Amino acid sequence: MDALTLFICTILASAIMTLTMVILRTTDKTEKYLVDWAMAGIFFMSSNVLAILSINFDLPTTIHPAMGNAFYLAGHSAIYSGVHRCLHGRSTWPLTLAIFLIPIPLHHIPMIAESVEMRIFIFYPMIFALNVSALVALWRRKKDKIGKAYWPLMAILFLFITQLIIRAVLMLAENVRLEFIGNQFMQTSGNLAIIGFIFLLTISFAIIVFWKKEVLLREASMTDYLTKLLNREALSKAALKEFYIAERKQRYFGFIMFDIDHFKHVNDNHGHAIGDRVLIEISKATQNLMRSFDYCFRVGGEEFVILVSDTNVNELNKIAERVRKAIEKTNFNASSGPLEITVSVGFAISSEDDETWEATLERADKALYHSKKTGRNKVSGEPQKAVLYSSALEHSHLA
Ligand code: GH3
Ligand code: MG
Ligand code: MG
Repeated sequence: MDALTLFICTILASAIMTLTMVILRTTDKTEKYLVDWAMAGIFFMSSNVLAILSINFDLPTTIHPAMGNAFYLAGHSAIYSGVHRCLHGRSTWPLTLAIFLIPIPLHHIPMIAESVEMRIFIFYPMIFALNVSALVALWRRKKDKIGKAYWPLMAILFLFITQLIIRAVLMLAENVRLEFIGNQFMQTSGNLAIIGFIFLLTISFAIIVFWKKEVLLREASMTDYLTKLLNREALSKAALKEFYIAERKQRYFGFIMFDIDHFKHVNDNHGHAIGDRVLIEISKATQNLMRSFDYCFRVGGEEFVILVSDTNVNELNKIAERVRKAIEKTNFNASSGPLEITVSVGFAISSEDDETWEATLERADKALYHSKKTGRNKVSGEPQKAVLYSSALEHSHLA
């Protein structure tokens, strides 16, 4: 393939990259790293436009090859900047500016100006370092919530770095002579590698954006908007999973269900906004008591469920009592003074007889109802198991 065709193809690939990033950015203004990647496309494009101009015109060294190489290096730096902003929220534009400015004066040193090999010797390590830094940064965050979305980009960076190493070794070993324009294997393969790299980068950037959106949407559909606890839909999913694990591993899970006492009075006497604040405070107080692998859900207006895995009646009762006490002790303030907020709690443990997880939850609900009926601000265990563990329960009131 002749050089002109390769440069035109690179310009097209870069333009597609910039256009895709701009379109994605207009659909979501929060994804700021797309600006960095759009700029990367513009830099690659500029580098190749200068290369084409240099074929037809006698450009000064400062314009070509100096600025051509500066744009090319800045393109790689902008990719790194976007990766940094995507992972850490901050771009690295000062680095990109420095990377852009460094090559320009270097091209006025005669030894560098006259030798393509010399330029490769200086600029290769910079390109290598930028791409390795991006790869390492992504690798470190591979366990993130959207970590899987980084794999395509990591694979592409890895491939690009590998071809850089292979080409560097070939050049050193065989002392392949390079000219700026020619049909040599090294020149053509290098240009094709860049075209492929830019195309695949565009795809992998888009994958990150869509994956992120998908995860956020899934999370939103599982989260209660007010308290940020998991919602009833999430409970169904988590409980079903726990039900199968319990069945397979012959272990038990339990539900602790609680409901705010006389919450309607709080709303009626202090307003809905104060009621909302109470719900948020209760959620925080409960979450602080959770083990990392237990879950708390808001399943109704002022009803909450805690799913406790691999547990026993004694432990369930202790957690239930801890939640009740923590809420009783929490300071809730309204403009008229402190509010006394309590909850009634019911719990139930899974049993071999339960055909569904809902059966266990229903018993916890019945136990909660019993707490309500018999005075509120108390803990009750499931009625049918009460007799078996009544001795283990000190502070609670069994059904
Ligand atoms: P009990 O002790 O029997 O549970 O009495 P209660 O007043 O707590 O129960 P009831 O079911 O009569 O009232 C529940 C109240 O919860 C009614 C509703 O206005 C309030 N509520 C439900 N969701 C929200 C919410 O998101 N924000 C606020 N502020 N209130 C809510
Ligand atoms: Mg209530
Ligand atoms: Mg209720």
